[in-house]
Amino acid sequence: MRSKLIAGNWKMNGSRAQNEDLLNALKTATLTSQTNLAIFPPAPYLMQCQSILSGSKIQYGAQDISAQQNGAYTGEWSGAMLADCGCQMVIVGHSERRTYHNESSSYVAEKTATALANGLRPIVCVGESAQQRQDNQTKATIEAQLLPVLTRCPKDAWSKIIVAYEPIWAIGSGVAANPEDAEDVHQFIRDLITNKVNQAQETLILYGGSVKANNAQTFFAMPNIDGALVGGASLQAHDFLMIAQAAARAQESTN
Ligand code: PEP
Repeated sequence: MRSKLIAGNWKMNGSRAQNEDLLNALKTATLTSQTNLAIFPPAPYLMQCQSILSGSKIQYGAQDISAQQNGAYTGEWSGAMLADCGCQMVIVGHSERRTYHNESSSYVAEKTATALANGLRPIVCVGESAQQRQDNQTKATIEAQLLPVLTRCPKDAWSKIIVAYEPIWAIGSGVAANPEDAEDVHQFIRDLITNKVNQAQETLILYGGSVKANNAQTFFAMPNIDGALVGGASLQAHDFLMIAQAAARAQESTN
């Protein structure tokens, strides 16, 4: 039985004062079921998360990781450093990194392996552009993005690896995917992992792209949607917690 995960990607937003309010509001909220929360602040604030979230069940991680172990890589941070800062997870291959930093799928696979080697759970983001969707290339795109990860990472790592299906056209646009279409892609991802490594039953597959309090429930009702990677709505405690509560309700109805 997979527990739902609601992950908040703060992107390049926040300040120490704003974060303090947001983290304290999340920390004091009570969630009734096995729904897990994780947040991904900008790296300079990871230690603030460690201090405020200490003693809480909310996990946190970085929005990126270096593929290198250590050394002369200005501007990067290693998996060991993230673990040292108390991170349990890390996002890899977000479409904004693939687009603005030209990260290839094989480079994302290296980062995924580095995260695992440092005891971090990677959230591997995949998803098609509007053009690829229009050209009926959604599944081919996702397969091409995931194959290097499947080849590079140990077969038994798929209970730790989390996949986030994030159609690029849905990110930050206010236009979420249709939940049935998203479920179809999630099923495709689970089948792909099963066919390659026979280990997908425990793999969490999150949906991301304009998830809000008012549409979250429709995604969580789908059998292969194990939670959400949330951008904009994760910056407001009330909205993020409403999404978490929708996940908790969906979890309870399947228990
Ligand atoms: C994201 O950037 O991962 C994301 C899903 O953003 P939003 O929820 O704002 O669409």
